[in-house]
This record gives sequence, C-alpha cells and structure tokens, in this order.
Amino acid sequence: MELLKNHVAGQWVAGQGEGTALHDPVTGEALVAVSSAGLDLGAAFAFAREQGGAALRALSYGERAALLTRVGEVLTANRDAYYEIATRNSGTVKSDSAVDIDGAIYTLGQYARWGAKLGEARLLLDGEPVALAKDNAFASQHVMTPTRGVALFINAFNFPAWGLWEKAAPALLSGVPVIVKPATATAWLTQRMVADVVAAGILPPGALSVVCGSSAGLLDQLQGEDVLSFTGSADTAAIIRSHPAVVKHSVRVNIEADSLNSALLLPVAEGSEALSLFAREVAREMTVKSGQKCTAIRRAFVPRALYTAAAELIAAQLRKTVVGNPRDESVRMGALVSLEQKRHVEEGLAVLQSEAVLLHDGRLQALVGADAGSACVAPVLLGCEQPVMATRVHDTEVFGPMATLMPYDDLAQAQALVRRGAGSLACSLYGDDPAALAACATELADLHGRVHVVTPAVAKLHTGHGNVMPQSLHGGPGRAGGGEELGGLRALNFYHRRSALQAAPEVLAALGPATQL
Ligand code: NAP
Repeated sequence: MELLKNHVAGQWVAGQGEGTALHDPVTGEALVAVSSAGLDLGAAFAFAREQGGAALRALSYGERAALLTRVGEVLTANRDAYYEIATRNSGTVKSDSAVDIDGAIYTLGQYARWGAKLGEARLLLDGEPVALAKDNAFASQHVMTPTRGVALFINAFNFPAWGLWEKAAPALLSGVPVIVKPATATAWLTQRMVADVVAAGILPPGALSVVCGSSAGLLDQLQGEDVLSFTGSADTAAIIRSHPAVVKHSVRVNIEADSLNSALLLPVAEGSEALSLFAREVAREMTVKSGQKCTAIRRAFVPRALYTAAAELIAAQLRKTVVGNPRDESVRMGALVSLEQKRHVEEGLAVLQSEAVLLHDGRLQALVGADAGSACVAPVLLGCEQPVMATRVHDTEVFGPMATLMPYDDLAQAQALVRRGAGSLACSLYGDDPAALAACATELADLHGRVHVVTPAVAKLHTGHGNVMPQSLHGGPGRAGGGEELGGLRALNFYHRRSALQAAPEVLAALGPATQL
C-alpha cells in the first residue's frame, strides 16, 4: 500500500513505519497509508517561517491574490482526480463531493478576486489617522501587518478540500505560510491537492506544507507569532486550548467545534409555502454529506399545531433518499466517513432516543450496492414532544443523517429552546412575515455566527441553511468554539496584527502603498 509523503521544509518526506491505513467506507478496502512519525517538525516550522513567510511578505496583496488564482486553476485542472479520491475515501456521491471540492475552488476564487482589489498595497490601514495633538501635528494611525509566524491548521475529516482552502486562501493572501494537518481518515485528498499545487511551482518554497498522520509534537512547535486554527470536536478543542505552548506563548487560536444548529418555523398557516420550504431544508440538511456537516440542522422547531404536518412532509422527502454505494447512479446519499463514525452515530442516536421517538427510520429501507458491514447509515428523523423538559436533544451532536423535530407553544419559548444550543454556527428561520422574521433574527443573532432567513420570495435564491459562503462569517460563539472565519476580507484579521502608529503626518504619509481593509 502506498505511504503518502509529507511535505515539510520544502521536501517530500515519508514518515517512519508502515503508517495508518485510510479506508473506503463502503467496501472496507485499505487505500493508502499515512505517517508523520520521525519528521523534523522544528525544521519544518522554521523553514515555513523563515523562507515561506519572508517570500510571501515580499509580494503585494495583489501579487499574492494572483498566486491564489493560479492555485485555483491547478485545482480545477485536477478536479476529476479529487472526485475519484472523494468517492473512494469519503464515500460521497458526486453532489456531496462537489460541496467540498468545488466549494474549495469557489472560495479560493473569491479570495483571489477580493485580494486583487487590494492591488499594489503592502500595508493595510484600519481607519483614518486620529489627532493626538493640536492641528494634527501628531496622530495615531492603526495599521495591520501580517504576523511573521506560521498558520497551523488542524482539520476535521468531513471537508478535506474546503477545510484546507477556506483557511489557506486568506492566510496566503495575508502573506502567512501554512502547515496543514488533515484529519487522518480523509487525509488523502488534502495531501493530493497540496502535491498538485507544489508540483505546479506556484507558491514559494515553505508557503504550503502538509503533515499527514498523528498530530504528536505539532503544537509543541508553536511560538508567539504563529496562529492555530482547529476544526473538530469540542473535546479535542479543549485539549488544544490548554496546550502548554498555546498558553505560554499566547498563540492566537481559532476554534470551530461542534454545534447543535437549529431551524425554526415561525407561526404560519397550515399549507403555507414557508412550511414546505422548512421541511425541504430540514431533509436536505440531514442528507447532504450524510449529515456530516458542522452546520447541519440538528434541531428543528415548529408551532405545535404544525408538528404532525411537518413530520409528514420531512419524512416524505427522506423516503426519496436512496442510500448506498456512491458509484451507483441511483444512490443519492453515500456513506459516513468510517465505521468508527458509524459507531459514534449509533451511540449518539441511542442517547437521543432516551428523550425522542422515531418519526422516520430510513434504516428500514434497503441499502443499494452496499451491505450492513459498510459505513452507510440511512436518515433518521426523531421527534421530541416536550422539548422544554428534555436535555440531551439540546446538547448531543450526532454527526450523521439525523435531526430532532420539536413543537413549541409560543415564539418566546421557541427562541429559548433555540438558545439551549448554547452557541451555534447557524440558525435558519422560515416564515412569511418580514417584521416577525427580522425581530426573531436579531433576537437570536448574538448566539449564532449566521442567521439564515428563508421566505417564499427567496425560495429558489437562498444559498441553503448549511452552505458556508465565503462572503459570510463562519463560526459561532460558546459551544461552537468561539471562532470566526471567512466573511470576505474580514478573514484577513486573524492573520494580521493591529498596531497603532503614533507619528507626525509626514511620517504617516511616507508609509508606502497602503489601503483600507
Ligand atoms: P476530532 O476527533 O476532534 O479531530 C479533529 C482533528 O484534530 C483531526 O485532525 C485529529 O487528527 C486532530 N486531533 C485529534 N486529537 C488531537 C490532539 N490531542 N491534539 C491535536 N490534534 C488532535 O474531530 P473529528 O471527529 O475529526 O471531526 C468531527 C467534529 O468536527 C464534529 O463534532 C463537527 O461538528 C466538527 N466540525 C466543525 C466544523 C466547524 O467549522 N465548526 C467543521 C467541521 C467539523 P486525527 O484525525 O489524526 O485523529
């Protein structure tokens, strides 16, 4: 079996030993192996900081944006190979692989376009000079300069492509080199993309490194100018936050953790289009990427009078979902990423069933082209009629094709129930009264990175509850990790340091090519 190499200090290096095998979650076939054992991580970080960072910072924002365009072209040229890897290693159908692969290419393209507008600038300004003395003879100008460390990404298994590029695009545009450690289960796609970009010779040596396999020793390398982005479970996030190097050097950390995202149908008449839009979106969110999306709807709330109707509409959508081997044309939903995840999902489902009943159990339908030994799991809709009394449905994230439908008695109660997610990435609202929707959105905004409002007017236009658009913020407070990503050029903040330059106007005027962020 091929052992995938790591790219560190500008070299391709094999880790020691046989490595850990990556599997096809449908057939069980062992595909490739990864190992990070024995790598000289000290040299890898030093090379990235000293060579990669310096070379990137020698360019203007516009020049770095042009590199992103070329990276996007290389990824586009190799798209077919990425789809093939995704089918084999992630067990996803084409449309689900697209969310990851084409989502990555689209996000890169956006940052290339936004970066091009920064043009020849080599310095970002934050606001105008503010007088500190009479007649502006001495003033304060806030500036943003790229940090001179490394951006280390420790990523989750569910987005091996997008998870790299949605972070790497703003980092590289900022002039900060990247070291990515993909989740082991799906590291192949990340490694292959890095290999294609490195082979194309677009980025300066040291600008992009990949470490596949164990994360052992990576965090020990962190220094005060480095930044760390982590995406994964809340348990691992807690370990990372308290790592001695992070604490000692005040390393800037961005955490994207798990999230009990909600969908809330405001009071509407039975038969309202808003109810159908709600049901369609809940079913879609449960099945896209087999529910393995950090933004997926886990809790769905409806007025009590519409509970049965909503359950029937969602179940009707789910019945159309053919589950099985993604290579079969009739299959609409592939596998979970691994048998381990299948076990986690089954355990999580049992926890939820202590408070909820089955409203739709897709597991009663046969799998297509896959057997019970595969990591395929059909969608399950649960119902909990007394959500105020329940606890587990509000605190247990089951990372698979499941959601819990719950009735509420009045809108204040519904909002209180949504807030029991304790901080989420996304919440979607459905209704036909703009004023009520706007009031509800502002009521819930403080606890959500994104509030997505669906009215009949945007039925065909809206971007989807769970789709992360680079134009909008991604992240969420509290349980969701407290992180912020994307949101257009706001993403550059994480990779820059803000500093106040206090000087005479003639000094400030000599700062060179600069632009407002
Ligand atoms: P995980 O087990 O926490 O792993 C995430 C990453 O951390 C992997 O690369 C993993 O490496 C690494 N890791 C594990 N233990 C570590 C340690 N002690 N020190 C440093 N790194 C360590 O999470 P997962 O199961 O892969 O991902 C699923 C979770 O991610 C879900 O809860 C989901 O909600 C969340 N998620 C959130 C977002 C978001 O944007 N908010 C996006 C996607 C997923 P190995 O793979 O080698 O163990």
